[in-house]
Amino acid sequence: MRFFSYFNKFLQSHPSSSKLLVLSSIRGFCLLLAVYSGGGLVVYADLPSDKEKPSLALEQEETRKKRVLVLGTGWAGISFLKDLDISSYDVQVVSPRNYFAFTPLLPSVTCGTVEARSIVEPVRNIVKKRSGEVKFWEAECLKVDAVNKKVICRSYVNENLPGKNEFSLEYDYLVVAVGAQVNTFNTPGVAENCYFLKEVEDAQSIRRAVIDCFEKAVLPELTEEERRINLHFVIVGGGPTGVEFAAELHDFVHEDLVKIYPSVKDLVAISLIQSGDHILNTYDERISSFAEQKFQRDGIEVLTGHRVLSVSDRLIDVKAKSTGQNVSIPHGMVVWSTGVGTRPVVKDFMEQIGQGNRKVLATDEWLRVKGCDDVYGLGDCTTVDQKKIMEDISAIFKAADKDNSGTLTIEEFKDVIEDVTIRYPQVELYLQNNHLSDITDLLKGADGNEREEVDIEEFKLALANVDKQTKSLPATAQVAAQQGAYLARCFNTREKCIAEPEGPRKFRSGGRHEFRPFRYRHLGQFAPLGGEQAAAELPGDWVSVGHSTQWLWYSIYASKQVSWRTRYLVVGDWTRRFVFGRDSSRI
Ligand code: FAD
Repeated sequence: MRFFSYFNKFLQSHPSSSKLLVLSSIRGFCLLLAVYSGGGLVVYADLPSDKEKPSLALEQEETRKKRVLVLGTGWAGISFLKDLDISSYDVQVVSPRNYFAFTPLLPSVTCGTVEARSIVEPVRNIVKKRSGEVKFWEAECLKVDAVNKKVICRSYVNENLPGKNEFSLEYDYLVVAVGAQVNTFNTPGVAENCYFLKEVEDAQSIRRAVIDCFEKAVLPELTEEERRINLHFVIVGGGPTGVEFAAELHDFVHEDLVKIYPSVKDLVAISLIQSGDHILNTYDERISSFAEQKFQRDGIEVLTGHRVLSVSDRLIDVKAKSTGQNVSIPHGMVVWSTGVGTRPVVKDFMEQIGQGNRKVLATDEWLRVKGCDDVYGLGDCTTVDQKKIMEDISAIFKAADKDNSGTLTIEEFKDVIEDVTIRYPQVELYLQNNHLSDITDLLKGADGNEREEVDIEEFKLALANVDKQTKSLPATAQVAAQQGAYLARCFNTREKCIAEPEGPRKFRSGGRHEFRPFRYRHLGQFAPLGGEQAAAELPGDWVSVGHSTQWLWYSIYASKQVSWRTRYLVVGDWTRRFVFGRDSSRI
C-alpha cells in the first residue's frame, strides 16, 4: 500500500510521465501498463511486446478515421461538405468566413434589392444537419506544408492564442477550396481608389458609397459640374458581374433615388468600361448585342475597346485601343470588376510543389493537385489539366489492336470507344462541333467513305484535331459546386471503388482508374439586365431574352438557395422591393 501511495504521489507530481508506465520486467510478455487519469489508476495487462508495438500503432493508424481538412466555405467547400459522408471521416474546416454566401445575388446587395443577411447561411447551420461531427475553425490558412501534411492557420477572432494567434492542423486528405481574390492587374491606384465586388462586405461598402455620392451631390454651394462628377458611376469590366451591377445601379437610381433626390436626377451618369470589343463576350453574340442595345436605350454609356491606365480619387485614365488616345474621366466612384487572381497561400503552395511557373493551381481530371499526394483542389483557385489524347494515342492504338496486326478495325476501335470518351471528353465536343453522329465517323477516309482498317498514322491523323476542343473550365459557382459534389462522391465510395474500379481503362499502364474523371455539365448562364429583363443561355444553343427570362431567373435563383431560411428571406426581399422600393438609408 505504501508503494502505491508513493507511486500515486509521484504520478501527480510528474503528470507528463503519468500516461504510460511499464511495471513488469519479463520481456515480451505480460506487460502491465499503468494509465493514470484524474487521480485514478487503471492497470492493463497482456499488452504487446516492444516488437509488436509498431504493428499496433500501424493497426490503430489504419482503424482511426482519416482526417479530412477542408480549406474554404464557398461554393466548392460547402458543396463538398454537404455531400460528404462525414460519419466515415474526421472532418475539419478552416475558413476566415463562418458563413456561405450566395454570390450570384451579391450585385443585388449593392443596391438593397436583397439584404446581405438574406444571402448568407452560417456554416455551423449547414453542417449541424449532418450525422457526425464537423469541426469548424474560423481562421485563415497561411501555409500548406505538404511534406509534413499539416497547415498553419491564423485566427483573427482570438487575440490570446500563443504566438501570433497561429495554430497548426494535421490532415490525411486536404481539400483546397479557398477561391480567388480580386485582380487589379497592378493598375496604379486601383487598390486604393476602387470598390470591388467579391465579398459580402464589398457589396455593403458599395451600397453605402452610392448613397454617399448622392448625399455629397446635394450639399449646398457645389457647382453643377461638381454635382455631376459626384454622380458619375464608373464600372470597369464588362463581364457578367460588371454588367449586372450596372443594371442594378441603373434600376436603383431610376426607380428609387431620383424620387428622393429630385434636384440632381438629371446629373446622374453610369459608364461601363470594357477592354474587349463587346460586353458579355463569353456569352452568345445575340445576348451580348441585346445587352449593348438595352444599355444604350437606358443611357448607360458603354466604352468598349478601352483599357484603364490608372485610377485616382477623382479621375480614371483610360486609353482607347483603336486611336491610342488617352482620356481622363472624372468620377464619383469606380467599381472594379475585371476577373480574379491567385491567393498568396495558393501561390506559396504552388511554389512548394513545382507549380511556381503556373498562374492557377493545376489538378488532374480527378481533382488531385498535380505533384502532391492526398491534396485535392476545387473551384476558382484551381484549373483542371485535361490530358491530351495525342499524348496517349499510341497506347490507345496498342490497347485496341487486340490481334497485334498493326491495324485497327472498326470493331476493335468500338471496343475502346467508351473508355476513350470518358477519359478524353474533348472527343465528344469534337464530334458535336463537327456534326459527326458517331465516333466511328472519325475513322472515315478523306473522301468520306468508311475504311475497313486504319494504321497508326491514319489513326493519329483522324484524331489530330480533337485536342483543340479542350477548354478550360470557367471560374463559376456552377463549376465549383459540381466539383465539390463530385469529390464528396469519390470520398464516399473510396473503399468500393478501390475494390471494384469504376473508371476508364488506363491505356498506358493497364488496369482501370478507380473513379470516373470529373465531368462538368454546363447548365446554362443568366445575365440580369435591369428593368425586369434578363438574358439566358441554356444548353442546346437556346437563347432567351426579355421579361419572361427575368421570371425564369427569379425562380431558378430562389430554388438554388442553400436553405429554406435564405429562400424565404430572398423571396421576401424581392416582394418588399416590388411593394416599397429599395431602402436608401446609409447604415
Ligand atoms: P469562393 O466561393 O470564393 O469561396 C472561397 C472560400 O475560401 C471562402 O469561404 C473564403 O472565405 C475562404 N478562404 C479564402 N482564403 C482562405 C484561406 N487562406 N484559408 C481558408 N479559407 C480561405 N458564378 C456563377 O456560376 N453564377 C453567377 O451568377 C455568379 N455570379 C457572381 C457574382 C459575383 C458578384 C461574384 C463575385 C461571383 C459570381 N460567380 C458566379 C462566381 C462564383 O461566385 C465563384 O466562381 C465561386 O464563388 C467559386 O467558388 P469557390 O468555392 O472556389 O470560392
